[in-house]
Amino acid sequence: MLARKKRLILDEVTAGTGAQIRMEEDANGIQSGLVLSFLDLKRSHSPAVTLRPKGLNGFVAHLSFGNFAADTIRQMQKASDEEVQLARALIASIKKDVSISVTIEGQQSLTSWKLTDGQFTITAEKRGLKRRYDDDVLVETCRELVTPMLAAMAELYGYDPVVEVEEIGPEAAMEGAVSIRQIRKRERNPRNRLLCLRIHGESCQICKTNPKMTYGKAGGILEVHHVQPLALSDEPRVYDPTTDLIPLCPNCHRAVHTRRPVPWKPEQILEMMHTHG
Ligand SMILES: [Zn+2]
Ligand SMILES: [Zn+2]
Repeated sequence: MLARKKRLILDEVTAGTGAQIRMEEDANGIQSGLVLSFLDLKRSHSPAVTLRPKGLNGFVAHLSFGNFAADTIRQMQKASDEEVQLARALIASIKKDVSISVTIEGQQSLTSWKLTDGQFTITAEKRGLKRRYDDDVLVETCRELVTPMLAAMAELYGYDPVVEVEEIGPEAAMEGAVSIRQIRKRERNPRNRLLCLRIHGESCQICKTNPKMTYGKAGGILEVHHVQPLALSDEPRVYDPTTDLIPLCPNCHRAVHTRRPVPWKPEQILEMMHTHG
């Protein structure tokens, strides 16, 4: 049953993780499921998420590691604080609904878990689905459960999304503030984009446009903007992807960055729009 929806799911998970994904059918249970893992790692070396129907109207997604994943896990344990923080935020973003439950091996907390060893697992279950094999329901379930799990693992593993490094010029020297290179990297990380849209929804935070409503299938164009301190003299604060990133449409995003090196604040752009219109 699930197999027919493979393409939809693969596109969804690939975009959200920024990694190449392998998808296989898993016929071990009574009802067949899907196993998703990282294509550039051997199956037994990779973290994998199995999505399987459960009961009459649910799905369960289970993250575990292959038998030979020790090196992979060692590399993931070297992730920076920022990567760990994003991975945790992605997992924490799964739970926002009474029909969903999430558990981490060893009763670890959803917001402060650590990747311990090869026994590490995350299980998320969604219940009460009507017509669970409908395209919409299935893709939504993957988006809700599978994509954030694999995105969190991709972040820890350090998959580098294709980020073109452009010449930045003299403004790169923002003393004391986060470097522009760092900010651009955050803005272009597909996992940050995924988290940002999960938290703030699919509308531009300035003009309120929802591109998917306007363009339908071609509407996946929202970008991530990193809200920076207004002035270099502002208190430096610890980066938090859940509050420092907002989705903007490409137009508003360009508008915000017309002031350099410190971009306009969203509320300043709104004010200009109102004054002008
Ligand atoms: Zn906009
Ligand atoms: Zn920006």
